[in-house]
Amino acid sequence: MFGYGAILGGGIGRDLRFGVMKLYDTRARAAVDVAPHDGSTLTLYACGPTVYRFAHVGNVRTFLLTDLIARAAALASYKIKIVQNITDVGHMIDDTGLGGADEGQGDTEDKLLAQSRTENKSALDIARFYEAAFHTDLARLNIRPANSYPRASETIGLMITLISTLIDRGHAYIGGDGSVFFDARSCADYGAISGNRLDALKPGHRFDGETDPNKRFHADWALWKFAPSTRTQLVWETPWGVGFPGWHTECSAMSIDQLGDHIDIHTGGIDLRFPHHEDERAQSNAFAEHDVVKHWVHAEHLLFEGRKMSKSTGNVVLVQDVIDRGFDPLALRLSFLGSRYRTQIDLTWDSIAAADAQLKKWRQRTSNVAGGVVDDSAKQAFTAAFLDDLDTPRALQVLRDVEKSSMSDADKAAFILWADESLGLDLDRPADVVDIPLEVQQLSDKRAAAREAKNWAASDELRDQIAALGWEVRDTAGGQELSAK
Ligand code: AMP
Ligand code: ZN
Repeated sequence: MFGYGAILGGGIGRDLRFGVMKLYDTRARAAVDVAPHDGSTLTLYACGPTVYRFAHVGNVRTFLLTDLIARAAALASYKIKIVQNITDVGHMIDDTGLGGADEGQGDTEDKLLAQSRTENKSALDIARFYEAAFHTDLARLNIRPANSYPRASETIGLMITLISTLIDRGHAYIGGDGSVFFDARSCADYGAISGNRLDALKPGHRFDGETDPNKRFHADWALWKFAPSTRTQLVWETPWGVGFPGWHTECSAMSIDQLGDHIDIHTGGIDLRFPHHEDERAQSNAFAEHDVVKHWVHAEHLLFEGRKMSKSTGNVVLVQDVIDRGFDPLALRLSFLGSRYRTQIDLTWDSIAAADAQLKKWRQRTSNVAGGVVDDSAKQAFTAAFLDDLDTPRALQVLRDVEKSSMSDADKAAFILWADESLGLDLDRPADVVDIPLEVQQLSDKRAAAREAKNWAASDELRDQIAALGWEVRDTAGGQELSAK
């Protein structure tokens, strides 16, 4: 039932029965073998969040890709070093690159500064708040932390070094307004990732319909942006005047600084292929004078109830929303695993509910069962699927096949727990643990304070409010206990 090819042979302590680790390389346009350039440790740079708002479940799906690669690396007996940046400056509204690689300045605003105005807080307060929320969301989805999270605003010196080198080598020039532009035509193979060749790119337009007059060529982009005097936050002094970094500059500088100039894997959402990764590649390669990133790997986008996730249409779902509806956030993780990372998913509340029920079923299977043995052929089939460009739907099918098989309950439980090392679904957790929605938790905290103050009327009122949300509160010697009604 779980037959999987012949044993392929040893290698350096690696069990090759499972096949080699493969990932879809956007530049090669194929799933290719992936191995560490130094023979032992894979290096991975992941484009991180722009910390001006809560991450939505689509962003979280993309962040999961890094964790899945790390778990595949463990199955392949590779070590892995992961760096994920925190973008806290320089990511402009409308930094989409639509209409060409042009990124004029008049028509865009830094996302952090726009949010700073909306919330009436400093840009750095906004950044640190949403950065903390990002880490909370990762932990809720069992996405293991990266080795480091450099912040763009704290690595400006590196960017200045990078830009100076690019100017010295003739890859960049200072425009009339003090911004520094990358000379796109100096990159011979611009477009290798996205297929957007320079000769086919149409001039982009600024708000006034003109291409930025400070550029020599419409597809050049700003490495460093001149700051108007009205911009008082997130600005730095440089040899070219006061300004702030372009978003693409940040990732070149931080990736090379932290991982060196041979990086095995670079990840991000599919929308980052162009211009973000294309521009970053041109910069990094011009700086290192060779190809820096071996494999560019992209996660497809997620739709919700058939529609694009977007603030403007009100279709934004957060991890907290999933918890507030009474679901385990790992039901989201399981929903994501049901499709391969590079296929678009249409997530629905029904699919999250089904995943939540499935989690409970598997947890039930592992409760109070011990002493089983992990079936070797099931293990091979699961590992082969996981290593084959993260074919998680196929890996989950192996789990379902094991469930239906004639194995003993103990052996089934042993396999489920072994597979969970790669799936990360906490399948060893007791089946009846339920996440308490934030709103219920807040009311319960208020009620604890009211009881402390002996305000019994308020305490009763809060008990009713909690009950209206479908939860029961009991007062015990150890404090309040909440249970779903
Ligand atoms: P941001 O915080 O906006 O810079 O985005 C963080 C990551 O989420 C990037 O890698 C984006 O490509 C990715 N992303 C944005 N929208 C979606 C979506 N709907 N589904 C999946 N990933 C997305
Ligand atoms: Zn990036």
